[in-house]
Amino acid sequence: MNTVKRAIRKDLLVFGSPLIGKAEIDEVNRTLLSGWLSTGPKVAAFEESFRRYKNARFAAAVSSGTAALELSLIAAELQPGDEVVTTALTFCATVNAIIHAGLKPVLADVDPNTMNICPEELERRITPRTRAMLLVHFAGRPCEMDALMDIARRHRLKIVEDCAHAIESRYKGLASGTFGDFGCFSFYVTKNLTTGEGGMVLTRRKANASRIRRMALHGLSQDAWKRFNQKEYRHYYVQECGYKYNMTDLAAAIGKHQLKRIEQNWKRRAEIWRQYDASFEDLPLVTPSRAAPGTRHAYHLYTILVDERRCGLSRDRFLDAMVKHNIGVGVHYLSIPEHPYYRREFGWRPHDYPHAMRIGRQTVSLPLSPKLSAQDVQDVVAAVGDILQRTASGSRRPPRGALTTKTPSRPRGGLR
Ligand SMILES: *Cc1c(COP(=O)(O)O)cnc(C)c1O
Repeated sequence: MNTVKRAIRKDLLVFGSPLIGKAEIDEVNRTLLSGWLSTGPKVAAFEESFRRYKNARFAAAVSSGTAALELSLIAAELQPGDEVVTTALTFCATVNAIIHAGLKPVLADVDPNTMNICPEELERRITPRTRAMLLVHFAGRPCEMDALMDIARRHRLKIVEDCAHAIESRYKGLASGTFGDFGCFSFYVTKNLTTGEGGMVLTRRKANASRIRRMALHGLSQDAWKRFNQKEYRHYYVQECGYKYNMTDLAAAIGKHQLKRIEQNWKRRAEIWRQYDASFEDLPLVTPSRAAPGTRHAYHLYTILVDERRCGLSRDRFLDAMVKHNIGVGVHYLSIPEHPYYRREFGWRPHDYPHAMRIGRQTVSLPLSPKLSAQDVQDVVAAVGDILQRTASGSRRPPRGALTTKTPSRPRGGLR
């Protein structure tokens, strides 16, 4: 039996804990003292810096990644009940945003090596009512954009990118979030850039950015949004029934300095990623596939697959053992059809999306924050090794990025 006798660590290593510097703290203090806490000049400046970092045409800050998705789908001007195809392996917010926008979510299975939506599977799910694809660059690995954009062109589909994992991702020189009509970002606490809570939409049309800003603040005319620098009294008018999805200056104060360190943090996570790869080489785990040539991985999640037959213990027992070692872990994600609401409402069954189902049942995300010390990384490696060595003696390791079930393997890491 795999019982953890002595924890590797005394204190809990929190999963996804953000690296917050003195610059963020000082800026938040200054913002508090300025008296302008909600949407104001700091949000406008943060939007502009993020837009420039991503080399996008327009950016609109919002209160969360979920709000970014929902407002993008509204701004896409689809008809109620139109179908939006998305991946079966994602956070529930991706699917919920489709539902809240009055649209019909349709799932497609993932490619087992990339864990991103499989272009062929996506195309198979297209019906005469399909109007958009919502792509998730899973774990920070860009989707196969050539194939997907070709499908979008042929079927006249809008493209919305869920870039919650993919702030720093690039595909053949182009930044994630600038391929389609809308690129949606999350600045939730565990993400590669955090504002506590927050989000952003990138778009190439000015009208879309204005609509999203307006819908994020009750549907009020743009002047209302700019109240912070008005020199005279102005009435504001409700142009349509909007939401309360605006970003605050307090959040933007954090984001400003997070963005300044984004590349530095990315380098640190890349380094941890390589250490994990090297350390797990002889263990019976499946480690993440390498980034494809011509692409840049955002290194948001380091996900390993624990196959019970090879590892000698189930994924859930592995999670438990990690927690007993005081190492925080995550599951990204149980496949969408595993959740009772979606099964009930849409009749989805996990077995109809076999790759997403298996990954969801085997996957474990290890800590990958730039805040990790060398000792923290060693602790994670030691805990994983300790758990597997107790149970998996004699089992052989599968190749990197390979599958433990009969999946026909594509050329790994190749663009198609
Ligand atoms: C975090 C996340 C979201 C939601 O972002 P919030 O800012 O928490 O609303 C959406 N999609 C994916 C894939 C995510 O990881």
